[in-house]
Amino acid sequence: MYESDNLLFVSPTDLTKYLGCRHLTHLDLAVARGELSKPEQGADEMLELLFTRGIEHEQRYLQSLRDQGREVIEIVHPKGTAVALREAEAATEQAMALGADVIYQATFFDGRWRGHADFLLRRDDRPGRWPWSYDVADTKLARRMKVPALLQMATYAERLTALQGVAPEHLIVVTGDRVEHSYAFADCAAYATTIRAQLVGFLEAGDDPRPQPVQQCTQCRWRPRCKAQWRREDDLSLVAFMTGAHATRLRDAGIVTVRDLGGRSAGDLPLTIGLAARERLTAQARLQLVERDSEHPAFALLEPQAGRGLALLPELSQGDVFFDIEGDPFLGDHGLEYLWGVVDHDAFTAYWATDLTAEKQAFEQLVDHLIRAWDADPGMHVYHYAPYEPSRLKSLSGRYDTRGAEVDRLLRGQRLVDLYTVVRQGMRISKESYSIKQLEAFYWGQVRTHDGVSDSLGSVVAFERWLADGGQALLDDIAAYNEDDCRSTEALRDWLEQRRIDGGGDSLYPRPQHGDGAASDAADELATELDRIAAALLAGVPDGGRDEQQQARWLLAGLLDWHRRESLPEWWEYFARLEKSDEELVADAAAVGEVSGTTEVRVEKQSTIWRLDFPPQDTKMGPTSDCLDPRTAKGVGTIVAIDAEQGWLELKRGTNRGAPDCRSLVPTSPIPDTQQRARLRDLGAWVVKHGIDSPRVQWRAARDLLMCRRPWPDRGPLRRPDEPAEQALCRLAAELDRTVLPVQGPPGTGKTWAGARTILRLVSEGKRVGVTGFSHKVIGNLLSAVVDAAADAGVDVDILQKAEEHERCAAPAVRCVPSAKDVEAELSGRVDIIAGTAWLFARPAFAEAVDVLV
Ligand code: SF4
Repeated sequence: MYESDNLLFVSPTDLTKYLGCRHLTHLDLAVARGELSKPEQGADEMLELLFTRGIEHEQRYLQSLRDQGREVIEIVHPKGTAVALREAEAATEQAMALGADVIYQATFFDGRWRGHADFLLRRDDRPGRWPWSYDVADTKLARRMKVPALLQMATYAERLTALQGVAPEHLIVVTGDRVEHSYAFADCAAYATTIRAQLVGFLEAGDDPRPQPVQQCTQCRWRPRCKAQWRREDDLSLVAFMTGAHATRLRDAGIVTVRDLGGRSAGDLPLTIGLAARERLTAQARLQLVERDSEHPAFALLEPQAGRGLALLPELSQGDVFFDIEGDPFLGDHGLEYLWGVVDHDAFTAYWATDLTAEKQAFEQLVDHLIRAWDADPGMHVYHYAPYEPSRLKSLSGRYDTRGAEVDRLLRGQRLVDLYTVVRQGMRISKESYSIKQLEAFYWGQVRTHDGVSDSLGSVVAFERWLADGGQALLDDIAAYNEDDCRSTEALRDWLEQRRIDGGGDSLYPRPQHGDGAASDAADELATELDRIAAALLAGVPDGGRDEQQQARWLLAGLLDWHRRESLPEWWEYFARLEKSDEELVADAAAVGEVSGTTEVRVEKQSTIWRLDFPPQDTKMGPTSDCLDPRTAKGVGTIVAIDAEQGWLELKRGTNRGAPDCRSLVPTSPIPDTQQRARLRDLGAWVVKHGIDSPRVQWRAARDLLMCRRPWPDRGPLRRPDEPAEQALCRLAAELDRTVLPVQGPPGTGKTWAGARTILRLVSEGKRVGVTGFSHKVIGNLLSAVVDAAADAGVDVDILQKAEEHERCAAPAVRCVPSAKDVEAELSGRVDIIAGTAWLFARPAFAEAVDVLV
């Protein structure tokens, strides 16, 4: 934003800033009007780094377009005057008229809004002013799409519409992992217009909203100024864990300073804030005032709770490991964990990954180190601070498909101990932040001050400098910082252990019971068997250049462990959620935290509906969600109604169970996939014994699918000349004999319509048809189409679906039963169509239960 020739020029970047922080827009406006000096440029190396990485990402995408042979016209970045901007837009228009494949740095200017789209991409199927037109593409460093990026592009798109005579269809965001995300301009145009009008209105009104900490602050050059203001005004944002929503509610209630808040009791605070949060905020403010007034740090232990806080600390052991990772989020497609540091037996070990290819090796070395340490000392635990370390172990084991079993064993055996969780659940400290650096005031007597690297952002900057210029001193600095973090984690563990002893020891804080990480005997047996079968399938299969049968065996060997690999993250997430505090669950969108106020609403047959209140929060839980109590991991009931904005829900549970006694609700555990794994095992074992291309009839369809073999390989084209696709499908499906016919087509091409008629024909020939799909919804759609097709044809079809009532097919003609056993009971009778997910058809009773599976 700036003024030139008495005009205020605004850009889509100002729109992004406005959405993130209105105070920032107010400050930028003051600079534009010459009422305030610009904040110092170049002071923040992290911002410079982000800028550099952003440019690199943009250049990489530009090069990839050139490599595809596309002709690129680049528009020279203009000066800021209206004349220069008009000229640059005219150059953009000229490049469009010439029909350039790609226009780089396209400039738009409508007299107030200026903007520079990274790329315009030509398309020939949407003519406007010319026989071609352009879509907008922007590169964004983030790996997740954010709304402001779309608003920016929608602003370019609006001006582009005027220039090319037709609206662009797509806004394409190229994220930092080089994935292109395409969005319909039509979906965001109206919203973008509204937000632009709001920004213009804000600028004209000249409002001065107060600064509030937001995510954008970390990348804002006004940060020092705002921080000084918060301190001067003793702003509520100085209270640790104060959220923007809580601060707003407190200010609305007339509580505006830390001192004011510290002098209140929880009952003085607005009831729209949950009780636990009200108690925490007042106590936290009070404790911070203690340090402020006494100039000595202070802490207070919280009420002991089983399995929470200090009760999470295991017995100390000689072989305990203290672990910390340094990661650079800007490198490669996923970031790079460049240093994995551990301290054990008083020695520091660093596993470096100074480039992307070394990351896998460093990860494996680290996991091997932890497993070795555990094998040598069964009482060992791995201590870390905050959830970054386990989350990286999980994601890298998946990304590189290595050490998954070892990571699972560490997690299953609860070897990783997050001291941040221990601190947050176990005590309050008198600090504005609960970072490990702040905690050091309690056990090292000071907050660390370093000449070299002193925080995680500094570590990233130092590593980036090393990548650019080299120099061992930089790596030494990073290593020293990482070792300090590991040793600080050890010192924190010892300090917490002492607090545990002083606070009551074993009687108040019983030690957690941690297992050996071994899977159950049955799971172990199955895993061993699957390994053995996979090894047999792979015998003689080369790494490359595989023939049809070798490829099929290689694929099957990989599939045997697929369900276990896929389910691991879900199980890890499930167990991590069970350990969260009620307050942490408020912030977890998968759960409902801090429920209270149980009231009976009504009785329905054998069930009672209870109303529970909770502080307003984002939650994905909705009607029909089955819930667990995280303290017991036992079922509480099923939500039948919920209003997350007002903060209430209705829970249904058996009347004989009485009122629910829980403080939070979490989703149930992942659904066991034992049957699917067992059937793959059966298939693998059969193939090992008889061969993938055995002439026997067993498993023929599955084997054909693995070999990508078309049915009737000796026949010519499957579809007759001029035969409509749906007729061909009907005819061929009826002829299928123990093989598989893949049908492919994008949405809207009539697969469901044709599938329904095919199913009817099969039924009319006396065959029993199975219908399956990834979800009950998908299955229900096809069943509805079958019911409609049967009505059109005037035929009677008996359809049985296995699904809960809320997931069933909408057509009343479909009979629905909740359990697989109910379906099994009907297998011997007349049922024309049986429908259910893979969980149903993988059961042993369903082998050969249908003639055709759709
Ligand atoms: S530091 Fe934060 S509050 Fe201040 S202007 Fe920047 S984004 Fe807004």
